[in-house]
Amino acid sequence: MRILITGGSGFLGSHLSERLLNDGHQVVAVDNLLTGNLDNIQHLVNRPEFKFIQHDICEPFDVDGEIDGILNFASPASPVDYVKYPLETLRVGSAGTTNALELARRKNARFLTASTSEVYGDPLIHPQQESYYGNVNPIGARSCYDEAKRYSEAVTMSYHRYYGVDTRIVRIFNTFGERMRLEDGRVVPNFIAQALRGEPLTVYGDGLQTRSFCYVSDLVEGILRLFMLEPSKESMYPVNVGNPNEMTIEQFANFVNALTDNPAGIIYKIQERLQNDPQTRRPDITRARRLLDWEPNIALEEGLRRTIRYFESKVKPTAAGV
Ligand code: UDP
Repeated sequence: MRILITGGSGFLGSHLSERLLNDGHQVVAVDNLLTGNLDNIQHLVNRPEFKFIQHDICEPFDVDGEIDGILNFASPASPVDYVKYPLETLRVGSAGTTNALELARRKNARFLTASTSEVYGDPLIHPQQESYYGNVNPIGARSCYDEAKRYSEAVTMSYHRYYGVDTRIVRIFNTFGERMRLEDGRVVPNFIAQALRGEPLTVYGDGLQTRSFCYVSDLVEGILRLFMLEPSKESMYPVNVGNPNEMTIEQFANFVNALTDNPAGIIYKIQERLQNDPQTRRPDITRARRLLDWEPNIALEEGLRRTIRYFESKVKPTAAGV
C-alpha cells in the first residue's frame, strides 16, 4: 500500500512510518515540523519507498499518484505544547483533519485519525469505555486539545456518513518510548531527564492522579491492526488503544527513580498541575481485544529501560557539563 502519514516526523508518526516501511509499504510523511523533528526520520529519508513533504496540513494539499490510506497524526500532543500552541492545535484538529479527509475522499483512500483519551476529559466513569461521552471543560486550559480532537472525531464520522469514506478512529492513551522529545513536558521525558541528571522528580499536585502507560511498539501494533481491518458495521467506531496497567504518578516517579538508581527522590509541585488534569485514566480495551485481537505485551519496566537508554545519550552530555 502507499500510505500518507500526517505528523510523519513526530513521535508516533515516525514509528508508524518505520513499521510500515519494514512491512513493505510505501510511506509519504507530511509534517510542518512545529513539534515534529527531522531527526526522528533521518534513518528513513534515504529509503526509496519513503518520501517526506514539509507542509502544514491546515492549508489544503494534494500529492501525486495514488494513495491507499491516510494516517492522520499531525497535532501537538503534550499539554505543555498545546497550551503553548492553542490556536495551532485547534486548527490542525479541525481544518487540518478536514483537509486530510478531503484528500482521502478524492483519492478513495482509507482514513484513520489519531484521537485521544482526552476526549473523555476528567472522566467520571472508570475505566473509560468507548461508549462514554466524557467530561470535558470546553473553556478549560486543556480544551484547545480536547475539543480539537472531539471535532476531529465528529468531522471524521461526518465524512464517513455523508461521503462514505472508510474511516477509523483510534483513541490513544498515554504512550511513551524512543523519540519523544526530551523537553516536550510530558511526565515520561521529564522524569527520565530529571532522574538521569540526578535531580528530584517533579510530581505535580499530590501525585495521586493515575495514568496507564503503553510502550510505543504495542501502540503501533494496535493502530495498524485497526487500520488494516476489513471495513465492517463496526470498523468506523472509536477504539481505545493503550495499556490498562494503571498507577499513580507518585508510584510512577518511584519506579523511574528505582530503575535509574536516582537517590534524589521526589519534589511535589502543587501549583504546576494544569487545570482539569484528569484525576484517573485507564483504558477499557475490551473492544480492541475483540475487534483487533490485540493487547499490549511489553511490560512497563522493559519499555522504560529501552526509553531510558534512548534518553541517556541525549541527557548525559548536559549532565556532564553541569
Ligand atoms: N506530571 C508530573 N510531573 C511532570 C509532568 C507531568 O507530575 O513533570 C503529571 C501531570 O500533572 C499529569 C501526569 O503527570 O497528571 C501525566 O502528564 P502528561 O503531561 O504526561 O500527560 P497527560 O496524561 O496529562 O496528557
